[in-house]
Order: sequence, then C-alpha cells, then structure tokens
Amino acid sequence: MEGQPEHKLDVLGWLGEALEELDRRSLRRMRRCRQSPQGRTIWLDGRELVNFGSNDYLGLAGDPRLAEAVRHGLEKEGWGSGASALVCGRSSAHAALEEALAKFEGCEAALVFPTGFAANAGTIAALVGPGDAVYCDRKNHASIIDGCKLSRADFRVFPHSDVDTLDRLLAKPHKHRRRLVVTDTLFSMDGDLAPIPQLVEVCERHHAILMVDEAHATGVFGDRGRGVVEFFGVEQRVPVRVGTLSKALGSVGGFVVGSRELIEWLVQKARPYMFSTALPGVACYAAVAALEIVKQEPYRRALVLQRAELLRETLKRNGWDVGRSSSQIIPIVVRQPEVALSLARFLETRGLFVPAIRPPAVPDEEACLRVSVTFQHQDGDLHQLVEALGEARRTVGLGDA
Ligand SMILES: *Cc1c(COP(=O)(O)O)cnc(C)c1O
Repeated sequence: MEGQPEHKLDVLGWLGEALEELDRRSLRRMRRCRQSPQGRTIWLDGRELVNFGSNDYLGLAGDPRLAEAVRHGLEKEGWGSGASALVCGRSSAHAALEEALAKFEGCEAALVFPTGFAANAGTIAALVGPGDAVYCDRKNHASIIDGCKLSRADFRVFPHSDVDTLDRLLAKPHKHRRRLVVTDTLFSMDGDLAPIPQLVEVCERHHAILMVDEAHATGVFGDRGRGVVEFFGVEQRVPVRVGTLSKALGSVGGFVVGSRELIEWLVQKARPYMFSTALPGVACYAAVAALEIVKQEPYRRALVLQRAELLRETLKRNGWDVGRSSSQIIPIVVRQPEVALSLARFLETRGLFVPAIRPPAVPDEEACLRVSVTFQHQDGDLHQLVEALGEARRTVGLGDA
C-alpha cells in the first residue's frame, strides 16, 4: 500500500521514548508564552511575575525610544531586507550601525551579523580551519563550541578560566599554521569574568589570536560600556571582539569589531554572514538608538552592577551558593535539575520568575537558578526574592545549604 502513515511514524518512532526520558531526568524544556512587553514584570502564561529571567540588563528592550527609532526606520525603508548583505540586503541603516559600533568600541571597523550565534560560529570558522588549532574554555557558549566544530581545526578544550593549563598547551611543540584562543568574557550561566589580562599575556607570548565574546558584558561593563576588555583596560590588545545587540542593547543581531582587514576578511569568508539574509534595517535603527542611550546614561550600568553586588552578598550571607559570580548574573547553584525546577516553581507561586538552568546549558551536577539583575528592578523586588528563597528552604526543604 502506498503512503502508509504508520511507515512515516515508524522512522521517528523513537522520539516519544526519547522525550519521556528527558522528562524522567527533569531535563525536558517546556516553552513559556509571554503576553506583555519585556520589563520589570512580565505576564507569563497568564500570570504577572517579577522578571529575573531576561538578558535585558539595561531595560532597553521595551524602551519607547527604541520603539520610536523602529517606527522611524520602518517609514524610511520598510520591514524586510530581502537578501543577504553581500547581494543587496545591506542598507544605509546597516552601514550606519556598523559605523556607530566601530566608534562605540573604539575600533577601525565593525560587521553586523543576523545574530550573535552567527557572529561567533562564522568568525571562528573564518579564522581557523584544517591545519589550525582552536583553544576553547570549557564553559564557553554553545555558539562558540559549534563554531569550533564547524571550523574543522584541531579542537582543544581547556578547564574553565585555567590560564596555566592553556599556557602549557600553547607551549607544546606544534605544526599548526594558526592558533586561536576563544573565551566568553562574562560567562552566561556562572556570571564570572574570564581572566582577560592573563589570557592577553599568554596569547601574545605564544603568538595566538585571542577572540572574546562580550555577549553579556557589552553595555554593562567598562567605563563606556565596551565590556570586560575595557573593564580590564586591555581592549586595544584583543584583536577579535564579538558582541550581541540582543542582550543589554535590547535589540537583535550580533557583531564583530576589530581592524579593517579583519572585517574585510569576515565579509569574504564568514558563511553565516554571506548566506543568511541581512537583519531588517529597522533592527539597526533600534540598535543605534540603544548605543546612544548606553553612551548618554552610564548610570544604568552602574546601578545594575551595584544592585547585583548587594543581592549577591545577601544571598551568600543566607547560605546560598552563588559560585564565582561577580556580575549582574547570579546563579543559585543547587546541583540537581529536579531541585532547580522545584525551586523555580515555588518562586512562581510567590510571583517571581527565575529560570531553572539545567544540562546541557550547564554541566551535569551544576543545575541552578539563574538570577538576572536589571536596571528596572526595585529594591523591593530583590528583597522579595531573598524572602521567598528563605521560605522555600524552610517550607519545602529545598536547596539545603
Ligand atoms: C546569547 C549569547 C550569544 C548569542 O547571541 P544571540 O544574539 O542571542 O544569538 C553568544 N554568546 C553568548 C555568551 C551568549 O550568551
């Protein structure tokens, strides 16, 4: 018989069992549905919750000035970009954003990608290939890991923030043509900073290229908001810097900044840049407006970091394990995925949204609640979170410290 539906079902028959297995291990993701703009509170699946889950650190995603920039951009050039940047998808809006980014970051040039994921994956594979080597921190973002694999360069993973081991690996005799070291500057789940000055020194000594991903640090760290490289005062010594427009800048898109030649090379070789449709120009209008706010309102980033420091100290005093966090990202490490889930569910009954982070976003045994502190939070919100966590421990007996 032709077109038997059972036959079709059969080849994917393993999916049901595989999904159930995820369920049993508390690793299945349930998608949520937000019914409000991003902000201090959000409506999630019909309930209003104080939001500790977004990466909108400066509170710009819902800022009316970005919406106004988008309205203006929409009038100028409509919605879709219609082609990849290399064909005719790149408009004067993209050019203006690249110029603004280069200026903001103090670099010769910038390149805008459709996403930060694409920027990482595309840049790594454009810089190294077979015959080269790439050295990757164990806790780097998935887009970096995938970029390393895509590149087909020899892939070496070093223990988290372990500069000595990296130094030893780089000191070994080798026949590689080029060597690239890649790291997040602010780790997205642990909230700790990479030892950037030491990495710069080791890379310079071994003539390796250093590439950093500032996804969570752009707009938050550094006097001008350039990120952790500026915080440490070494931005001119890091040749390849990636960032995203989708976190503190409240927009969408990824970018790379560096020398004119680096950017020109990526235009030739970064496949996600070449073969993906350019961002809608209006997204660039939003990002330019966000960069202007970051420049004009430095108190936003100062307040976020100050507030996070206060929360972190309070949580520590109350016996919670916040790992090595030293930023606006504060993990509450509980280890088992089912404990993280129960805690998150309990907090929701108290009107608080704090996502449970489980493998594969973190290594096994490192499940946590990930608290993201933003400019929009009020002191009362942090107080409420601390109280609810205490209540969870007392009444549900969770997360014993
Ligand atoms: C979110 C993130 C990215 C990807 O950025 P998108 O613009 O969301 O695709 C890259 N690196 C790190 C460290 C991230 O956290």
